[in-house]
Amino acid sequence: MTELTHFVNGEHVTGTTGRFADVMNPATGEVQAQVPLASTAEVDAIVAKAAEAQIAWGATNPQRRARVMMKFGALINEHMNELAELISREHGKTLPDACGDVQRGLEVVEVCMGAPSHLKGDFMGDGGPGIDLYSVRQPLGVVAGITPFNFPAMIPLWKMAPAISAGNAMVLKPSERCPSTALRLAELLKEAGLPDGVLQVVNGDKEAVDALLDNETIQAVGFVGSTPIAQYIYSRATANGKRAQCFGGAKNHMIIMPDADMDKAADALVGAGFGAAGERCMAISVAVPVGQEAADALVERLIPRIDKLKVGPYTSGDDVDYGPVITKASQERVKGLITSGAEQGATLVRDGRDFSIQGYEEGYFVGPTLFDNVTEDMDIYKEEIFGPVLSMVRKDNYEDALKLTMDNQYGNGTAIYTADGDTARDFAHRVNVGMVGINFPIPVPLSYFSFGGWKKSAFGDLNQYGPDAFRFYTRTKTVTARWFSGIKEGGEFNFKAMD
Ligand code: NAD
Repeated sequence: MTELTHFVNGEHVTGTTGRFADVMNPATGEVQAQVPLASTAEVDAIVAKAAEAQIAWGATNPQRRARVMMKFGALINEHMNELAELISREHGKTLPDACGDVQRGLEVVEVCMGAPSHLKGDFMGDGGPGIDLYSVRQPLGVVAGITPFNFPAMIPLWKMAPAISAGNAMVLKPSERCPSTALRLAELLKEAGLPDGVLQVVNGDKEAVDALLDNETIQAVGFVGSTPIAQYIYSRATANGKRAQCFGGAKNHMIIMPDADMDKAADALVGAGFGAAGERCMAISVAVPVGQEAADALVERLIPRIDKLKVGPYTSGDDVDYGPVITKASQERVKGLITSGAEQGATLVRDGRDFSIQGYEEGYFVGPTLFDNVTEDMDIYKEEIFGPVLSMVRKDNYEDALKLTMDNQYGNGTAIYTADGDTARDFAHRVNVGMVGINFPIPVPLSYFSFGGWKKSAFGDLNQYGPDAFRFYTRTKTVTARWFSGIKEGGEFNFKAMD
């Protein structure tokens, strides 16, 4: 059995607590490794070492730090397939999807190659007579990243690249379900020239997270995961005087107007609803067709597309559309929610509960599931399912569809499919959701914008990556300077009495 490690001061270090979590192969249901779960004492020691390393790193000029990101980017590209394989093995997503996971993280590393431009301050000459004011952005010190299972490369990279290029040291606590990718990324960062201790990877569960939240050296916490945990981490971190940005769960709606290209809308819904087994915070889980005709046309197009989906282990080839969900508990929860949807009166158009694959009977697969006539009071509407389940809520007009989206507790992503610019513009302007797609199902912004939801999808006031990340990972110091008249007035040559 493989025993995984922490990554401390540039080296793999075995855990000392004797506590481990099983890392599963979700396609087979077998345990493939054990990950150590750190104690508070271990976390505190790791943070202390990060603090020592941060002093020299914070004093290294930003361009030199950016050069480490350049090499890191090149190494990620070089090792793309290897990283994708690590992701697929622990997460279960297909290899092309895992490459996308690495790629969208790499794009943030690419922006961090230009970090010096984001770290420049402001200057006002002659703000008063002979008075200059300038502000500089300085690193915070040691910061923590706590990340979820569903993007084992992308989200750790969203955290570590801006934090480190801004001059901080980071202690990263990846998901205990998919820890290997973060460990490999730490090795690559070392190879890229990052001094030891500037990125520490500590594996663990609640105990390690709480230790980070309570550690006085940690200045800021960047979290991504489910909403209850995001809210908990935000409260505890901020109560301890830390900066925090905590991104949570989602229930993303896509409105389909009667004038939309129904084939394109159906293609988009199948990809965004079932890709990665629905385990994306930007997955579309609610389709909202406007008008009965649009709804019927959409169902008619969705059924054959769903029936063609190929579900299987990533090892079955690149034509697999999606793989298993992450754990047995997750599989059971998703199936339970499907049962509740049927019992609460939704029309179960396609049922993925009895799905199984020969040779992979113990894998955590769920077949693609489509519900029609879903209403707001049903559990399948209210809860984030995080599985391959698409719910259709029919609405009679645009205002009702917009209201449904706006009344939902989550506000991560949303989309509208329409041929009408006026409707699309109105939607984008009025909807209370952080990321909006117009004829675009998964509007994850490119890396030089920034990523963040509204409402219960995010706690804190700055987004991830892009310019916001540099604001989050630095603090502003403003200097007001005045110089009295000096040497330019000429030297003093007379022998003067002491005053
Ligand atoms: P999770 O909340 O279970 O875990 C996230 C992290 O928190 C992990 O590192 C985990 O070890 C830690 N954690 C779990 N329980 C904890 C506790 N009680 N106390 C302290 N720490 C704890 O999330 P997950 O299942 O790994 O990820 C899926 C969730 O993440 C979904 O809800 C999804 O929508 C969300 N997500 C959000 C975004 C976003 O940017 N908004 C992106 C990806 C995923």
